[in-house]
Amino acid sequence: MTATHDVFNQSTPLEDVNLFEIDLPLKEALRREGGGWAAERVSELGEICGSAEVLRQGADANNFPPKLKSHDRFGHRIDEVEFHPAYHELMHLGFTHGIHALPWREPQIGANVARAAMFTQLTHAEAGVGCPISMTFSVIPALRHQPEVAAEWEQRFLALDYDGELRSPETKPACVAGMAMTEKQGGSDVRANTTRATPLNGGGPGAEYEITGHKWFCSAPMCDAFLVLAQTGSGLSCFLMPRFTPDGERNGFHIQRLKDKLGNRSNASSEVEFRSAWARMVGEEGRGVRTIIEMVGHTRLDCAIGAGAGMRSGVAQALHHTSSRSAFGKRLVEQPLMRNVLADLSIESEAATASVMRLARSYDESAAGDERAELFKRIATPVLKYWISKRAPSHAVEALECFGGNGYAEESGMPRLFRESPLMSIWEGSGNVQCLDALRAMVKSPASTEVLFEEIDEARGSDPRLDDFTDGLKESMTTSPETLEVRARRVVEGMALALQGSQLVRHGDPAVADAFCASRLAGDWGGAFGTLPAGTDFETIITRSAPQV
Ligand SMILES: Cc1cc2nc3c(=O)[nH]c(=O)nc-3n(C[C@H](O)[C@H](O)[C@H](O)COP(=O)(O)OP(=O)(O)OC[C@H]3O[C@@H](n4cnc5c(N)ncnc54)[C@H](O)[C@@H]3O)c2cc1C
Repeated sequence: MTATHDVFNQSTPLEDVNLFEIDLPLKEALRREGGGWAAERVSELGEICGSAEVLRQGADANNFPPKLKSHDRFGHRIDEVEFHPAYHELMHLGFTHGIHALPWREPQIGANVARAAMFTQLTHAEAGVGCPISMTFSVIPALRHQPEVAAEWEQRFLALDYDGELRSPETKPACVAGMAMTEKQGGSDVRANTTRATPLNGGGPGAEYEITGHKWFCSAPMCDAFLVLAQTGSGLSCFLMPRFTPDGERNGFHIQRLKDKLGNRSNASSEVEFRSAWARMVGEEGRGVRTIIEMVGHTRLDCAIGAGAGMRSGVAQALHHTSSRSAFGKRLVEQPLMRNVLADLSIESEAATASVMRLARSYDESAAGDERAELFKRIATPVLKYWISKRAPSHAVEALECFGGNGYAEESGMPRLFRESPLMSIWEGSGNVQCLDALRAMVKSPASTEVLFEEIDEARGSDPRLDDFTDGLKESMTTSPETLEVRARRVVEGMALALQGSQLVRHGDPAVADAFCASRLAGDWGGAFGTLPAGTDFETIITRSAPQV
C-alpha cells in the first residue's frame, strides 16, 4: 500500500515531563509561601503525575467509569462500587504521598502550601480522585470536635496505605472519609434536611444514634465513614456514619444509584438512603452546621486549588500545542493574536496560583495560632473559591480552542478538562452561596475584611491602578449597604481581583503584574481572553508559563 500522505505539523503529547518542574509560577509560589522544604517531594510527584503511564491512568479512570454493584451474585445486598484499576492506582498515589494528610501528619509552616502543590500535580493526572482525598484531609478538624470519636478514627484517616476494599475499618491499613449533607429538597439550605437521627441510649455528643433518611449527593460512597447531617429534637446535628457497624455488620447505608454527570466521571457520585444506619454524634447537638463547616472550609480551599490546577493544565497544554504547530507561515505561538490569547490565559493561571498558595499559607499560620491568619482565611476562602472557580470554565474553553478542532476531539484530553471545569464552582457551596458567605464574614467578622485589605494594601504605592481599584472597591462596599446582597458578586469579584493584583504586584514578575493591572483592574480588556493591550510584554509572560520540555 502506498501512503496517501505524510503526517506532519501535528503536536505531540505533553507527557513524560515533570509537571512541577515545568511550572515556574508554582515553583516560585511554593518557596515564597513557606513550602520550599517540600520542593523535592512535590517534584517527585510532578515527575510521576507527568509520566505517560499515570496520565493514561487518569484517562482510563474516566473512560471506564465506576459501576454500582447493589447485590452480590447470590442476591445479598452489598452496596458497593466497582472501579477501574486505574482509579485505585491514582488513589494509592495520592495517599502514598500524603495529599490527604500532610498538614496533620507534619504540622508546620508550609505544610498546606506543599500539599496544595501536590494536590495540583495529582489533579493534572485526574481530578476525580481529588474529591475523596480532599474529604479525608478535611474531615480531621471537624472530627476533633468529638475527641473520643477522633481518637478512634483520626489515625485511620491519616494513614498512607490506601486500601480500596470495603471492609470493617479495624481490618484496613487506612480509611477514606466522605461527607453527606445535600438532600433532594435542599442543598445550599441544609436547614431543610429531613433525615432524622434517633438516640440509641440517651443521646448527646459522642453518643450512638440510628439515622433514617436520604442524601441526594454522596460522592465517593466507597469511603469508610461519612460526616452526615441529620435532625434530632434539638435541630440539625453532625454524625460520623461508618459503612460497617462496630459489630462488623454492613451498616444501613444503601446506594440507590450513581449519578450520570457532565464530568468528574471517575468519581462515583451517588444517591444514598440510610435505613436505621448506625452513627455517632460529632460536636454539639443542634450545632451540626457549625461542626461540619470546619470540614467544608477545607474542601472549599481544595476547590480553589483544583480550579487553579485546571487552569494550569489548560495553559500548559495550549502553550505546548501552539509551540509545535504552524499556520500561515509561523508557529501558532508566534502569531501576534495567538500570543495575546496565550498570555492572557497565562496571567489568569498565574493569578490563581499566586493567590491560592497565599491562601494555603494562611491555613498553616492559623493552625499555628496566628489570629490574623484565621481572619484572613475566613474571608479569603469564599472570595477565592468563588472567583477562581468562576474563571475556570471560560479559561478551559479558550485553552481548548488553542488546539482548533483537535481540542474538540476527546483524545486531546481538552474536553475532559472542560467538563471538569464548572464543578468547582458548584460543590461545597455554589457561586452565590460563596458570595453570601463572604458578605456574612464582612458583617459578623468585620476584622476579617480589615485584615484582607491590610494584605492588599501591602502593595500600596507600587501601582496606581491597583490603588485606585482598591479605593473604588472600598467605597462600593460602604455605599448603600442595603444593596450589598444584590451586588455581592461584583464586590466579591473585586476583592478577589484586588488580592490577586496585590500578590502579583508584590511578588510576581513585573510583566505579569503590569498586564494584570492593565486588564483586570484598569479595564483595558475586552469580553474574552486574548484582549490584552497592545503594549503588553507578551514574550516574558508566555515564556514564564511555557512548559520547557
Ligand atoms: C458532582 C457532585 C458531587 C457532589 N458531592 C456531594 C457530596 O459528596 N456531599 C454533599 O453533601 N453534597 C455533594 N454535592 C452537592 C453540592 O454540594 C450541591 O449541589 C451544592 O451545594 C448546591 O446545592 P443544590 O444542588 O441543592 O442547589 P440549590 O441549593 O438548589 O441551589 C441552586 C442555585 O441557587 C443558588 N442559591 C441558593 N441559595 C441562594 C440564595 N440565598 N441566594 C441566591 N442564590 C442562591 C445556588 O448558588 C445555586 O446556583 C455534590 C454535587 C455535585 C455536582
